[in-house]
Amino acid sequence: MDPHSTDLSKLWPDVSSYILNRDQNIRSLPVTAPLAAISAELPTKSAGPDAAFQLFKTSIAPHVNAACGPRYFGFITGGVTPAAHIGDVLATSFDQNVMTASESAGSAAADVEEAVVVMLRDLLHLPAEYEGIITAGGTSSNTLALAVARQWVGRKNGVDIGEDGLQALGGKAIRVFGTMAHQSISKAMSTLGLGRKVVQVPPLPGTVTQMDPEALDKALSLETNNGGTAGCIVVVQSGEVNTSNCDSLPQISAVCKRHNAWLHVDGAANLLARASPTHAQSLEGLELADSITGDCHKWFNVPYDSGLMLTRHPAVHSAAITATAAYLAATTTPAYAPINLSLDNSRRFRALPLWMALQAYGREGFAEIVDRTCDFAAQLGAWIRQSQQYELLQPPCLNTVLFRVVEVNGEEVDPEMAKRVLQHVNATRKVFFSGTVWQGKPAIRAAIANWRTNVEDDLQIVAQSLTEGYAAAFL
Ligand SMILES: *Cc1c(COP(=O)(O)O)cnc(C)c1O
Repeated sequence: MDPHSTDLSKLWPDVSSYILNRDQNIRSLPVTAPLAAISAELPTKSAGPDAAFQLFKTSIAPHVNAACGPRYFGFITGGVTPAAHIGDVLATSFDQNVMTASESAGSAAADVEEAVVVMLRDLLHLPAEYEGIITAGGTSSNTLALAVARQWVGRKNGVDIGEDGLQALGGKAIRVFGTMAHQSISKAMSTLGLGRKVVQVPPLPGTVTQMDPEALDKALSLETNNGGTAGCIVVVQSGEVNTSNCDSLPQISAVCKRHNAWLHVDGAANLLARASPTHAQSLEGLELADSITGDCHKWFNVPYDSGLMLTRHPAVHSAAITATAAYLAATTTPAYAPINLSLDNSRRFRALPLWMALQAYGREGFAEIVDRTCDFAAQLGAWIRQSQQYELLQPPCLNTVLFRVVEVNGEEVDPEMAKRVLQHVNATRKVFFSGTVWQGKPAIRAAIANWRTNVEDDLQIVAQSLTEGYAAAFL
């Protein structure tokens, strides 16, 4: 391949008009895509980027869904705002390795990331003690946060876990407590040698997902009186994935303080609610957390992959992660050096799409995304409430609607039929919901996390798909 190739300039206009065209038509594209076998045959000859692009258009693009569009409500899926989109293209084009401090790299990329972390902290109304890092997503952030918490527990026991490992705790356990914690917490625990098992704290009476602070108090008392425990980490979701329900952080934090436990808030789903004056109160007390996870490729609407991890224990953070000798804790290095804060060494200019979006939209723009999507969830909830075919499983909370299929006479449908209805709804390809299990029974959840979704353009299409899918399943 020719090192002086001008392929990019030849191809760029075609690619940009192709991208613009898809973006402009995103509302009318089928939401899901038919799968196909993707060839794994490695070419021998250099066909060139143009041939590769043509092949992409014919053999890949038709089989990729429109998850970045306004009616993909599965999992928790954000879209890409125009500013974030351009930021991502620029990040690729400038191709930075954001590993070391800006001054040692001769490039400002790490300073941009530091500025982005500060701006996000401000957007979320958190005090200046918090520092952090941009990650690959919620799972990375949870892993990093638990690594910092683990280091902190070690310190309390006079042990440097980063340096000497968990075995230096002499067989004492680190326990993690939660109520319906996200599975990525267990995954992180397994990675970190803590074992997958989260100690289950019963929910508040009358709720399913919310941690009962009194039950937590009891569980932590038992654990702290047990000589075999080195320390405790409490994980709460803000909010929980099925429901967006948030725990009472002030109450839980008080219990954690009493027992000297670390409080981690997994805000992958709903952290951005803090940016809206209307919805911020759901995450009241966030500033009491020892560590916080955010997921920027969800509600923040920057492209994959992008997450945020914040902690109010910067010295413990760098001691846990630092790539140089652990006894030279990075507090001695005042410059922002991602290598001492991130699970990765080499990493892309992931902060740039965030920087672009923050500059372009500001506090008001992010608050608008929250308000618009929460309004859509409320309106969709109102439609379901009056429908004969579906029933709300709880009042809509923030941007999430949890509901299920019912018989027209209001009776339960059997689980197979409930799944069939969801399949038929999704088969309209005008909308996509993911299924879940709620209290042992199949349910449907809609997470409205795309900046484009709005009542005027989308609600009627969604209602129609729900009606059509139901009819088709019962035919
Ligand atoms: C999405 C999510 C995660 C995992 O985040 P990824 O970005 O998929 O790694 C963790 N916790 C919660 C509450 C989530 O919603």
